[in-house]
Amino acid sequence: MIEMPFNSPAHFSAGVAAPEAAGDALWFIFRGDRLLVELGPPSPHPTGDLRVPARPSWARLPLLKNNNSLWFQPARTLYLGVLGGIPCWAAEAPADAPPPPAGQAWEGLRTLFSVLDDAHFALAGRAIQLVDWDRSHRYCGRCGAPTEAKAEERARVCPACRLSAYPRIAPAVMALVRREGEILLGRSPHFPPGMYSALAGFVEPGESLEQCLAREVAEEVGVQISNTRYFASQSWPFPHSMMIAFVCEWSSGEIRPQAGEIEAANWFEVLQLPKLPSKISIARRLIDAVVEEIKSTNVV
Ligand SMILES: [Zn+2]
Repeated sequence: MIEMPFNSPAHFSAGVAAPEAAGDALWFIFRGDRLLVELGPPSPHPTGDLRVPARPSWARLPLLKNNNSLWFQPARTLYLGVLGGIPCWAAEAPADAPPPPAGQAWEGLRTLFSVLDDAHFALAGRAIQLVDWDRSHRYCGRCGAPTEAKAEERARVCPACRLSAYPRIAPAVMALVRREGEILLGRSPHFPPGMYSALAGFVEPGESLEQCLAREVAEEVGVQISNTRYFASQSWPFPHSMMIAFVCEWSSGEIRPQAGEIEAANWFEVLQLPKLPSKISIARRLIDAVVEEIKSTNVV
C-alpha cells in the first residue's frame, strides 16, 4: 500500500461515541477552511508547491483538555476517534470568534503539509470534511426538519421522515496516459501558471471507474485508452473527494483539448517535464512513479 497524505494514519481508530475520561485530547479546530495551530517563524526553504508561497518552520496542534478550555463557543464539536491512545476532536469556530491566543493562528491545510505531524495532518483532512458535512446537514434534504446526530454511527437522521445523511464523498478518477516513453499531461485554467498534471474527473451515477476513465480522457483530450492499471487512491479534502488513480496506455487519437476545461495538453518526454503539482497530491505520486518506471525500462 502506498502511503499518501490525508489517508488515515496508522494507530488511528475512528469512533463516534466519545470516551468518558476527560484527559488531554488533540483538537482539530477550524474557522472556515483554516486550522488552529501553534506556529513557528517562516521557513526560508522553498515550499515545492506553486500554490503555497511560504511555510512556517514548524506547526503543531494545541493540546487541550476539553472544550471548556476553548476561548470561544464552538459552533459544533465532533468526536473523531483515538490516535495512539489520545482522543481526537474536531470543532468549528464561528466566523466572529475572537483572535486566538498568542503563538496560535489559523492556517490553511496546504500550507501545513510537511510542517504539521503527518498523522495530525491526515486527521485534519478528515476533520475538515466531517465539520463541513455536519454543518451542511443540519436540516433534512427531503422535508426540511432539523436533523439529529446518530449515536451509533456517523450519520445525521431526520426525526420527521427518517432520512439518514452520511458524510458525502465524491469519487473522482485520475488518468496518467502513457505512450511509450511519453506521458500525457494537461492543464486546467485554474492551475498555477505553467503547471500541468494528470487528467481527472468525477464519476457519474451509473458509471464504473473504467468507464469514467475512458469517458474523461476522451472528453478532455480526445484520446482513446487501453490497458488500464490501478495505481492507488487518496482521500482529498478539497472539499470531499476520493481520488482513484490509474495508469493507462494510449491506443488512438490525437490530442484535442476540451474547450473551457483543458487549457492545454501535450505529450511530454520524461526528461523534459513541465512544472508539476506538489507531493501533497496523488497526481504527483502517480506522475513520479510512471516517470521512474519509464526511466528504468530504458524507453527514453
Ligand atoms: Zn426529513
